[in-house]
Amino acid sequence: MNKAESAALELLFAERGWTATAEAEHADLVVINTCSVRITAENRAWGRIAHYAALKKRRPFALVVTGCMAERLKREMRERQPAIDYVVGTFQKQAFGLVLDAAASGKRLDEVEESPAYAFASSYYEPGGFRSFLPIMHGCENFCTYCIVPYVRGREVSRDPGTIIAELAELEDRGIREVTLLGQNVSSYRWKEEGAELDFPALLERVAGFLEKRAKGGIRWIRFLTSHPKDFDSRTMDLIASHPLFCRHVHLVAQHGSNRILAAMNRKYTREAYLSLVDELKARVPGVTVSSDILMGFPGETENDVEDTLDLMRRAAYVYSYTYHYNPRSGTPAATMPDQVPDAVKKERLARVIALQRELSRESMKALVGSEVEVLVEDVSKKRADELLGRTQQDMMVVFPGPSSRVGSFARVRLSGLRGNTFRAVEVP
Ligand code: SF4
Repeated sequence: MNKAESAALELLFAERGWTATAEAEHADLVVINTCSVRITAENRAWGRIAHYAALKKRRPFALVVTGCMAERLKREMRERQPAIDYVVGTFQKQAFGLVLDAAASGKRLDEVEESPAYAFASSYYEPGGFRSFLPIMHGCENFCTYCIVPYVRGREVSRDPGTIIAELAELEDRGIREVTLLGQNVSSYRWKEEGAELDFPALLERVAGFLEKRAKGGIRWIRFLTSHPKDFDSRTMDLIASHPLFCRHVHLVAQHGSNRILAAMNRKYTREAYLSLVDELKARVPGVTVSSDILMGFPGETENDVEDTLDLMRRAAYVYSYTYHYNPRSGTPAATMPDQVPDAVKKERLARVIALQRELSRESMKALVGSEVEVLVEDVSKKRADELLGRTQQDMMVVFPGPSSRVGSFARVRLSGLRGNTFRAVEVP
């Protein structure tokens, strides 16, 4: 979400005549877009802020901090670091234009106004790109007990489907080939229109119908992120299965495999319900891959809970997982729960989860060696200039020989082997 919001800010700046510089040290305005989800991200942001605060002692420029951390700490941020000129929280982004005008004229705005509701930007296009995020909803009301997002991003707001479709058309006209519909919990998308309610599967149907009718063939792949198991349903599965536009991959976040911990996390599903959802998805959408986030070391976690998690991972056969260990976030219920797990134990448990995920990724990839797949070429390989890096619909990385001119296009390849967690492949006609 932060990447999409940074792209929207860049567009806004460009509209007002600002240009991006490759070297922030020479900028007239520095914007730090922060994330608050993990304490490590906040610590990194403080480091950046300190760096620019030191630079400001040598030459003047405007320093702006925005994003979740700005929302969380907006009252104390400038007290802690007076070099910050503006702190722009989640509900103040509409005031960014005023901040830019003030910075351009060298004046100061005393107050940055809050708006009552979250406002989506008109576009999240990243100039020159061929993949784009397209936010469809914002905020979260799930209140998982470890998570700070509902406090810093606010309640769920769905985006008008008319503006989603308009942005889709604009992205396609600008040469985008793959779009990721984005939200903290896309499956809880809801929009009321003409007395009826448009939910997430209905939105997917509208998106697919629009692109198919338009028949321009520019946007060929649609992904969505992130799906909460409590809202993910059979209609969504059937839509993925029935439209070739939708990538055969779902990031269906489990977080944990123990019913006791899932309840303490307030995740609102059991391991049995989660696993039956994964089974149903795999049965309804042939070839689909599933990935997840796994959070280890939640307060009260025992060895049995860890075993349950490893077991759930094996059964779900994740193609990959984002794994992390629990760090208390002040203001969330879990931060004051008893039986906090010592750091060394959290790290040891996380290491086991990572090792298992490596095995699972390798197993699911090995089964595909020999098959032919389509990839979207994302870049030139970092290791060799005559090789390309592509991504499959199933969200697996592939390296194959080819010229850099192919970046941004689709290619059909035969998977010939594995190097780490990346396929080796050759292009087929
Ligand atoms: S679903 Fe839970 S973990 Fe995800 S953003 Fe909402 S509160 Fe946080």
